[in-house]
Amino acid sequence: MDYYSNQITKLIEELSKLPGVGAKSAQRLAFHIINMPKEQVERLAGSMTSARNNIQYCKECFTLTDQEQCPICSNQNRDHSIIMVVENPRDLAAYEKTGKYNGVYHVLHGAISPMLGIGPNDIKLKELMQRLQADVKEVIIATNSSLEGETTAMYISKLIKPTGIKVSRIASGVPVGGDLEYIDEVTLLRALEGRVEL
Ligand code: ZN
Repeated sequence: MDYYSNQITKLIEELSKLPGVGAKSAQRLAFHIINMPKEQVERLAGSMTSARNNIQYCKECFTLTDQEQCPICSNQNRDHSIIMVVENPRDLAAYEKTGKYNGVYHVLHGAISPMLGIGPNDIKLKELMQRLQADVKEVIIATNSSLEGETTAMYISKLIKPTGIKVSRIASGVPVGGDLEYIDEVTLLRALEGRVEL
């Protein structure tokens, strides 16, 4: 039986497909949206559509950007010979907030997880190896200290070692299993400065 109009049911259905939104929250959100001023709903819908349409991967580091190359990669004052490898754009943002890192990044978009069936080919690893053809002095692996993050770090260091490029891992001051984005800037800086060569 249809309790609400078709349109509301459809809205609830779409909202409940979002991560972390259960049936109840979807219903609450749907009714909230319906009671919002029309202009506000239009702004919300518009910003979703335009973000989805205009955001793409940077062709260099694979972070999200609205240009072909992100502002970090196109900045000639950054040291392009040092690449920090992170799992996602949120981790990149966390390091950028420290304001102390002057190299560039590489975003993997995930980590290797045999348990979840995520292998090396499912993340942007090939793309990282391609970047190493250029003049790269150091690769800093800043994946999370979770099991997946450590597995990924080990895998990457084994791949890079034979190339002779310096590979380092951020210090383990970062709490185990902690998402990088929730760690304060001082801790991140200490982890970066205390990185050890693998
Ligand atoms: Zn970039």
